[in-house]
Amino acid sequence: MSSIFTKIINGEIPSYKVAEDENFFAFLDINPNAKGHTLVVPKKEVNKLFDLDEATYNGLMSFSRKVALALEKAVPCKRIGVSVIGLEVPHVHVHLIPLHSMQNIDFKHKVSLTKEEFEETAKSIAENIQ
Ligand code: 5GP
Repeated sequence: MSSIFTKIINGEIPSYKVAEDENFFAFLDINPNAKGHTLVVPKKEVNKLFDLDEATYNGLMSFSRKVALALEKAVPCKRIGVSVIGLEVPHVHVHLIPLHSMQNIDFKHKVSLTKEEFEETAKSIAENIQ
């Protein structure tokens, strides 16, 4: 069965898309630690980060960097934090999280955003992708 992220990539489940290329897809986390919390996933469905083949792993990091640079421009913050967990969704994803304090990276404190805020944030990140 396809992962929930494969369904998002295929457009079967809606998402606030930030960026996409042939191999990778970036979208806003639906339960964000901070405004702008973005997930970057390889289209190839693999469970664990270090099980990715080297080319896909390197491509994922490179694509994540591109998204992170845009995110840092779009959302005021001290820096972008990076985390890879995968205990909830067994399809590799990189969390890119705008950091204001340590609280933003502990996954216990969440922020709620309106549909309009999600849409505006995704648009603003997308516009800053280079
Ligand atoms: P992890 O697998 O790294 O522990 O966490 C999975 C992450 O995916 C969580 O931060 C969760 O909020 C996010 N997530 C789970 N389901 C969905 C979904 O359907 N849409 C979006 N945009 N994010 C999701």
